[in-house]
Amino acid sequence: MMLTVNSVTRQFGGFRAVDGVSLQLADKEILGIAGTNGAGKSTLFAAIAGQQPADEGSIQFEGHDITRMAPYRRARLGLVRTFQVPREFKSLTVHENLMVAAPNPAGERLFNGILSTRSLRNHEVELARKADGILQFLNLARVRDVKAGGLSGGQKKLVELGRVLMLDPRCILLDEPFAGVNPVLIEEICERVRQLNAQGIAFIVIEHHLQALKALSNRMIVMDRGRILAEGDPHSVLDDPRVQEAYMGG
Ligand code: ADP
Ligand code: MG
Repeated sequence: MMLTVNSVTRQFGGFRAVDGVSLQLADKEILGIAGTNGAGKSTLFAAIAGQQPADEGSIQFEGHDITRMAPYRRARLGLVRTFQVPREFKSLTVHENLMVAAPNPAGERLFNGILSTRSLRNHEVELARKADGILQFLNLARVRDVKAGGLSGGQKKLVELGRVLMLDPRCILLDEPFAGVNPVLIEEICERVRQLNAQGIAFIVIEHHLQALKALSNRMIVMDRGRILAEGDPHSVLDDPRVQEAYMGG
């Protein structure tokens, strides 16, 4: 298994936003997570990626116990996330947004005293090329030099994806990638996810938009009030009466 989440709980002042959740993600899998507002989906991502570490339980990623690891170290292992509300730097261009997402080698290598101005510059040229390649892949080359604050909702979601791609991830957690995105761009985002998945990147995708999630996922989980309500192939999960009740009955 690439990722194993064991009975993870995350509390806020005694309230269990995530309450004993266990799940597994296999290599190259796309796992969908649905559930009504407040079900604990984003908090589960925060526990997995490290912004809100688990209070109880444990998390393993590619053989490492990451339960209490800092988020940047999880990212270095290849585990990254996007946020429900895009966190782009509004006054930076799209290209610059990708550049600043890349890990900075200077901090690490400076101590060794081997880092010349020239090698720093080479590194930056390399990163700039890498960012351009990603922008091309995401169909964002046209807006390369546009300030990110002026983009549409869907384009901002793509920039979020571009930023995490700068980190050479093995597993990407996408938090509501289709929210506020027009149908044409939703299809485009799905296509990019499929292509990245074909290259070996595993995904967990949180989404309200059930039909798009069903089409994208190999397997689905539905959460309700901090717990897993149903799990299995997308078809049977969405047909599950408990799931329909949670969605309809509120
Ligand atoms: P979802 O993403 O499924 O809509 P969240 O994980 O965002 O749900 O939230 C789950 C519950 O935890 C909600 O009741 C929310 O109000 C609460 N919650 C989330 N983050 C915090 C926080 N930082 N402090 C206090 N309560 C929080
Ligand atoms: Mg959420």
